[in-house]
Amino acid sequence: MATAVYPGSFDPITLGHIDIIKRLTPLYDEVVVLVSYSPHKNYLFTAEERKEFLRSNLLDLKNVRVDVHQGLTVDYLKKIKAKVIVRGLRAVVDFEYEMAMASMNKKLFPDIETALFFASPDCYYISSRAIKEIARYGGNLNGLVPPNIQPILLEKLKLPT
Ligand code: ADP
Repeated sequence: MATAVYPGSFDPITLGHIDIIKRLTPLYDEVVVLVSYSPHKNYLFTAEERKEFLRSNLLDLKNVRVDVHQGLTVDYLKKIKAKVIVRGLRAVVDFEYEMAMASMNKKLFPDIETALFFASPDCYYISSRAIKEIARYGGNLNGLVPPNIQPILLEKLKLPT
């Protein structure tokens, strides 16, 4: 059975992430969306909140599950006996980081491969970081994040007027 693991911060989930996940489902038997947690990183939302935002927006995709992991992604793959890590590429700026990460993961666990998916033309400019900046100023998040995430984000980040 071919399983793809799609790791990321998902802080928060965007329509760009969902686009990648939907494109993965017909290609793999199982897709695990892996919410990464590192005590050294600052997140807006807790790992459980990020997981719930993903879960609530992926209910109709039957071969997708969401999990949380603290530590090396390759250790998670070893644990569930998966061989494929999926990442998304938005622009050239993503490339260097993703290539270094893929090479490091290969060094740590030679059996795994990283599959890179190009962002769709409608999504290549969407990032969690930009979303948070827009939310901070009460901007319109339509077409950028799922509808149920919009009020939560605005509530959490909107500057007092
Ligand atoms: P990380 O902090 O691990 O980079 P992100 O949540 O920002 O996590 O992204 C997870 C993965 O999804 C990364 O490979 C990133 O390049 C990819 N990604 C993020 N936004 C998009 C998008 N709009 N289209 C395609 N891929 C994306």
